[in-house]
Amino acid sequence: MSDLEIARSAAVRPIEDIADAAGIPREAVEFHGRYKAKIDPRLLPEDDGVPGQVVLVSAMSPTPAGEGKSTCTVGLADSLARAGQRVMIALREPSLGPVLGMKGGATGGGYSQVLPMDEINLHFTGDFHAITAANNALAALIDNHIHQGNILGIDPRRVTFKRVLDVNDRALREVVIGLGGPTEGTPRQDGFDITVASEVMAVFCLAQDLDDLRERLGNITFGYTYERTPLTVRDLGVEGALTLLLKDAIKPNLVQTIAGTPALVHGGPFANIAHGCNSVIATRTARQLADIVVTEAGFGADLGAEKFLDIKARAAGFAPGAVVIVATIRALKMHGGVAKTELAASNVEAVAAGTANLLRHVRNIEKFGLSPVVAVNQFGTDSEEELDWLLGWCRTEGIDAAVADVWGQGGGGPGGDELAAKVLAALDRPVDFSHLYPLELPVEDKIRTIAREIYGAGNVDFSAAALRRLAEIRANGWDALPVCMAKTQYSFSDDPTLLGAPTGFDLHVRDLVIRTGAGFVVVTTGAVMTMPGLPKEPAALRMDVDADGQAVGLF
Ligand code: ADP
Repeated sequence: MSDLEIARSAAVRPIEDIADAAGIPREAVEFHGRYKAKIDPRLLPEDDGVPGQVVLVSAMSPTPAGEGKSTCTVGLADSLARAGQRVMIALREPSLGPVLGMKGGATGGGYSQVLPMDEINLHFTGDFHAITAANNALAALIDNHIHQGNILGIDPRRVTFKRVLDVNDRALREVVIGLGGPTEGTPRQDGFDITVASEVMAVFCLAQDLDDLRERLGNITFGYTYERTPLTVRDLGVEGALTLLLKDAIKPNLVQTIAGTPALVHGGPFANIAHGCNSVIATRTARQLADIVVTEAGFGADLGAEKFLDIKARAAGFAPGAVVIVATIRALKMHGGVAKTELAASNVEAVAAGTANLLRHVRNIEKFGLSPVVAVNQFGTDSEEELDWLLGWCRTEGIDAAVADVWGQGGGGPGGDELAAKVLAALDRPVDFSHLYPLELPVEDKIRTIAREIYGAGNVDFSAAALRRLAEIRANGWDALPVCMAKTQYSFSDDPTLLGAPTGFDLHVRDLVIRTGAGFVVVTTGAVMTMPGLPKEPAALRMDVDADGQAVGLF
């Protein structure tokens, strides 16, 4: 059965039942149909002062198909609930663009999914539309300011803020706007990014509340004057209007898993150009309501977990209680040198060779003072011999590990019981969490620290453009910002074909993007796509609606 067929055969409970079970008072619940609701965190009962512990789910360097982080996040939460824990999930919202392009959603898979998966993967509660509108309102206000006399002296060639759309549309990457004569505005080169790459999205996900949202929106640098002075949204005076456009979207969305575990699915910044985790508000709300919150960070642990621990955890002021690293036999084999087409054949030697990649991720997490639990996400093609060998290896290395069949069994079955028990044991151990770098370190040294400590690079090579940006960062007093690395997820290096655990390579920093609203500096290495295109055979070709009005061919 496909993920969609499994999701459709599941018994979904009315969302008020899920809210009741999670202890959410009815006045805090805003219904969006029968199975989705927004939660107003301001109307929740007083905090008991003991926020729930956070379990971060990350992964080894993935294969192009993904290693099942969302699946394991959902499955682990269901299994913790099965073990009698008060648990809640905090996940990202999927972007619509990729849904129509490549197969694969962001709501988990098999029997470990959040529901209603079709609605969550399509328009959901409209948050991304609101973010798109806020982003494009700002773009229009910038161009209007230039048209109406340009008192701020905005240099039209140096407007860095782009328009966005939540559709993969390569034809919009570079556009010229304002054509048609003096009444149509000032012509300038512009471009579109996908909504999840918008700084408004990153701001939305890092904001603590409405006031902080307004403050961060005001801090967005949208361009420069002719004298190269940076200009912010506050200079334009429209941060209040943008906050207004987002006032409802900022409330977390409540849904449920197939097993009935409550999940807050809210916010979804790109894992490359941004930090790739759900909103701080949703995570905090979940911590207020549950004893354990299972959450996920995009890409492998070198990117997702590092950014979660150095950016999100710092902005939100918490430390995770436990980290799970999802590994698969097929990813290990790929890192052990097996071609993508041969991954189904049992090959213990290749699994053994691939453990170098997993081990580096485990040791990296230990650098933050956390001892991770490895979740081996079981696939039908895994042989007993491979799984046994891997568990034996983990024991020898002193790594906590469990095989999890949550895709096949879901929360109703025992497939994730052992993983849940290991995570509970990890949560009982004291953690001595620290960030990888202090904020006082100059941006250049922060990049070197991550490159050496997490990636295993020998040297960082800055392009001429990157060196100019570093000078600009120093001149404008932005050196205390954390860095948000943009790198391929397939390798520790910036070369996606360099698998395993490479060392001593040069990391090539192409450029730096200043995000003063989000509060980080994006460091681009290799090619970073901020507006994806559609493949030759887009998934849209298989999609339809049946006679009952139900989605067909989604995943
Ligand atoms: P990630 O979050 O790492 O990108 P997902 O959890 O979204 O990965 O899973 C990616 C795809 O792989 C989904 O279509 C899911 O159904 C499938 N998948 C995940 N785990 C398994 C498994 N154990 N067996 C078979 N398919 C799986």
